[in-house]
Amino acid sequence: MAKIRDMIPAFELFQPTTVGDALELLDEHRGQAWVLAGGLDSFDWFKDRVKRPSAVVDLGGISELTGIRDVEDGIEIGAMTSLTEIERDERVRSGFSVLADAARHVATPQIRNQGTLGGNVSQDTRCWYYRSGWPCYRAGGNTCYAAAPQAMNREHCIMGRSRCVAVNPSDTAPALIAVDAKMVVESNGGSTVHDAEDFFIGPAIDITRMTVMKSQDLLTRIHIPARWADADFYYEKIRDRGSWDFQLVSVAAAFRKSEGKIEEARISVNGVAPFPVRLDAVERLVQGTSGDESTASAAGELAIQGARPLRHNDYKVAMMRNLVRRAVRSVS
Ligand SMILES: Cc1cc2nc3c(=O)[nH]c(=O)nc-3n(C[C@H](O)[C@H](O)[C@H](O)COP(=O)(O)OP(=O)(O)OC[C@H]3O[C@@H](n4cnc5c(N)ncnc54)[C@H](O)[C@@H]3O)c2cc1C
Repeated sequence: MAKIRDMIPAFELFQPTTVGDALELLDEHRGQAWVLAGGLDSFDWFKDRVKRPSAVVDLGGISELTGIRDVEDGIEIGAMTSLTEIERDERVRSGFSVLADAARHVATPQIRNQGTLGGNVSQDTRCWYYRSGWPCYRAGGNTCYAAAPQAMNREHCIMGRSRCVAVNPSDTAPALIAVDAKMVVESNGGSTVHDAEDFFIGPAIDITRMTVMKSQDLLTRIHIPARWADADFYYEKIRDRGSWDFQLVSVAAAFRKSEGKIEEARISVNGVAPFPVRLDAVERLVQGTSGDESTASAAGELAIQGARPLRHNDYKVAMMRNLVRRAVRSVS
């Protein structure tokens, strides 16, 4: 069990100044190293003594990982770019407002100043059984405490479960899926580009990770292709408190219209599964329509097909249905 001692266990700290050096360190300390970005998730784990890496690779001194750049086909955002910078950048606000909106909904101004985009998409789940150090499946044990009959599981998933019922906590994740973002992951062996929707993985693929990245991998940048620039976007996050809080359910959507009809759509929902869910079937349903009320209702119903709520979270089914309905309705 976690005991908060406010004293972080010792580790060796590395502060490389190039991506190449960081990758070498991660390779050298494979399986024992921890990537440190803004530290907002990392330091919780260290202080609670639930995670005890022997080597920490701090990305703070690698200038090539920061900033937003124009590239030939869209924009590129360095993994260490702060959420505040994304929220305020004129290119993001005007061309891809769904991402600026999502970044603006993360926690508090202080957290957005310190938290990075790379850290936001790579952060671990907030399931409190797991975070408190309970030996659950995700932690290498042989049960899921949150799925037990007496469990408190109001914030957990309604779909996509596989032993673990935790959800992905990131606000920017569904927005990146809505704009078809490409995630550039590097290791000492080379680099791989993943579509945002494939970057996030569920427990059926690997119960110990939330993304495709292994311990020697580094997310270096995120490419946002121009094809969704200036689309009609919709972002909404429902949380318990109006001031700041993690999502209960959120939706991010992009629509391309022609002569009043939806030509193409991207719709992604988070807070309902261990990964942000892209709703391909709903996207096909709304194609060729004007996003009228009956289409919006049908879209909401289709979105929740197969939902299996836990004891305390059936409200999320209605929430997901309504958010998808509102996203589609926003087009008309
Ligand atoms: C009180 C509080 C409230 C919050 N509320 C919200 C919220 O409402 N919505 C929301 O979305 N988030 C929320 N967060 C999370 C926060 O926004 C941070 O963005 C997030 O925790 C991690 O960002 P970071 O830069 O601090 O990364 P870190 O904490 O340093 O890293 C997070 C994880 O990502 C890994 N990592 C970081 N960068 C990379 C990289 N480039 N390549 C590979 N792995 C990497 C680290 O190893 C670590 O496992 C909250 C956090 C706190 C403390």
